[in-house]
Amino acid sequence: MKLVVASNNPGKLREFGEMLAPLGWETLPQKELGVSECEEPHGTFVENALAKARHASACTGLPALADDSGLCVHALGGAPGVYSARFAGEPKSDERNNQKLVADLAGQADRRAHYVCVLVFVRHADDPQPVIAEGEWHGEIVDQPRGQGGFGYDPYFFLPESGATAAELDAAEKNRRSHRGQALAQLVDRLKTRRA
Ligand code: IMP
Repeated sequence: MKLVVASNNPGKLREFGEMLAPLGWETLPQKELGVSECEEPHGTFVENALAKARHASACTGLPALADDSGLCVHALGGAPGVYSARFAGEPKSDERNNQKLVADLAGQADRRAHYVCVLVFVRHADDPQPVIAEGEWHGEIVDQPRGQGGFGYDPYFFLPESGATAAELDAAEKNRRSHRGQALAQLVDRLKTRRA
């Protein structure tokens, strides 16, 4: 099955490709098909993911997979949430986002945070019954970065049960455990059991 992936984020495209290839699914990045970046005006992950999937499918005529994801920090009332990519403003920068995160949490004892990923699959742009899956990955925010892998907030996202940050896990382990990995496993299950 061919599907367009409605993302321009190289880290996510790599992770989707790695996770879907073993199932024999060919993932085509939307940029390669000339799809422009879609607005993400909504206040929830699911609304943004649905908007991106419908847009990519409308532009290409292919089934589309989109995600919306972000980091929710307990002591910040769930921020940066849907604004994770641009937490420190434009132009978006992982480095400045991480600096702001550490600064906003200075002196804060509660370091709990979780990544959220919502995935939406549509068979066509007007699909009245999108397949929706959601994953969460819980950890803690640390002040000093560790590790070279992953992207975004990963060097500051510490997993107590592993004694490592997400950036210190190898790609296969991150794919298995992450919010995106969990959501994708759920989505694949749903697609397998769904009738035509
Ligand atoms: P989106 O492209 O609108 O979904 O923005 C997601 C943003 O959330 C990214 O740009 C990152 O800042 C953050 N994010 C989501 N998933 C991850 C992850 O697995 N690692 C690190 N940061 C992530």
